[in-house]
Amino acid sequence: VTDWAQRARDLDAADPLAPFRSRFAHDDAPRIYLDGNSLGRMPLAAAGRIEATVQAWQRELVGGWHSWIDAPVRTGDLLAEAVLGARAGEVLACDSTTVNLYKLVHAALGARPGRRVVVTDRDNFPTDRYVLEGLAASGAATLRVLDCDPVLGPAAAEIEHACAANDVALVTLSHVAYRSGALADLRAITDAAHAGGALVLWDLSHSAGAVPVDLEASGADLAVGCTYKYLNAGPGAPAYLYVRRSLQGSLRSPIQGWFGQRDQFAMERPYEPDDGVRRFLAGTPPILGLAAVDAGAELVGEAGIERIRAKAGSLTTLAIEIVDAELVPLGFSLGTPRDVTLRGAHVSLRHPEAWRVCRALIEHAHVVPDFRPPDSVRLGLSPLSTSHEEVAEALTRLRDLILEGVHLRIAGERTRVT
Ligand SMILES: *Cc1c(COP(=O)(O)O)cnc(C)c1O
Repeated sequence: VTDWAQRARDLDAADPLAPFRSRFAHDDAPRIYLDGNSLGRMPLAAAGRIEATVQAWQRELVGGWHSWIDAPVRTGDLLAEAVLGARAGEVLACDSTTVNLYKLVHAALGARPGRRVVVTDRDNFPTDRYVLEGLAASGAATLRVLDCDPVLGPAAAEIEHACAANDVALVTLSHVAYRSGALADLRAITDAAHAGGALVLWDLSHSAGAVPVDLEASGADLAVGCTYKYLNAGPGAPAYLYVRRSLQGSLRSPIQGWFGQRDQFAMERPYEPDDGVRRFLAGTPPILGLAAVDAGAELVGEAGIERIRAKAGSLTTLAIEIVDAELVPLGFSLGTPRDVTLRGAHVSLRHPEAWRVCRALIEHAHVVPDFRPPDSVRLGLSPLSTSHEEVAEALTRLRDLILEGVHLRIAGERTRVT
């Protein structure tokens, strides 16, 4: 038998990112937190950043806007550089992912007259599908929803085929799939969509801060994503959007707000969008939330996204080895790609009683994963704040719990938030 704890300690001893764990708030509880892909741990620096912003509010009141007015662009530039592989002036930190997706899908449809098909996959994140269904119901789009491999996700050949009739305005997919953790080939899929004359919009919520994104190099047109998962910016922190610079002049936001206006304080003029990415702002940005995004993005920049990717690979590889050895014999199967280059930073375990397994982990083993229907227990292995030792310990507790049948004593009803 393998001594998983020893293996894990050896990996931690050689991990160049191990010191970053102490940059996050931890409590003394025996809890092992493996849900950083739903809500990341709090960076200690976030509290100071928010406090400084509170003091500026107290001191400066409306005068604070001389600086705050540029916060969505400043934080966007930071995300562009540290996380997204984009250039300054291409990213805004604003609104929620859902709202940003709506704005950019609508804008893309407007920029492709004569085409109204939007391609996505059935396993895309629910909010993405709902936004698209809403646009279809309003008559703005026709959806072409692909059924792709549930573990590996969409492949370039499928996108090429879906765009072959030259009627597709936009392809929109998740870079890392929220359930399986599959990492899509950003570049090959973007090329396939472009070959059919379509624009491409990537949802980076489950990849940004876990793996490199390289928006510029991949040729992607548009992107959105949230900051409260691997970017650790806290509950409800503002999201971001990316619009390739060469497209900015030809895309228009469907929400014409005063923050997107060319000369915001001229006030009495008709609406005329700003030349640059600011045209995708709508209303007043959430300044306190943006302060926390800065703290999260700076940590990622300091650690370096390549080292973060390597750590994600190391954590997920260890998890999969333990799953194969200890949990597959107990009825689990792996719902995540085995090839380390084809996955992000979370691992999905499939089990017919996944909901009860998940509750048993939380209530009886002090391990926090989450449940995704129909049958997945997701383990989010947030690279900056998770150790290999935690991974080994959590999976050992899971094995012991199954062997003792603890999950069989859990009621079947689901809680409101899973
Ligand atoms: C978490 C997540 C979202 C969240 O959208 P919000 O508007 O921030 O609630 C959207 N898309 C994907 C792929 C996600 O993983």
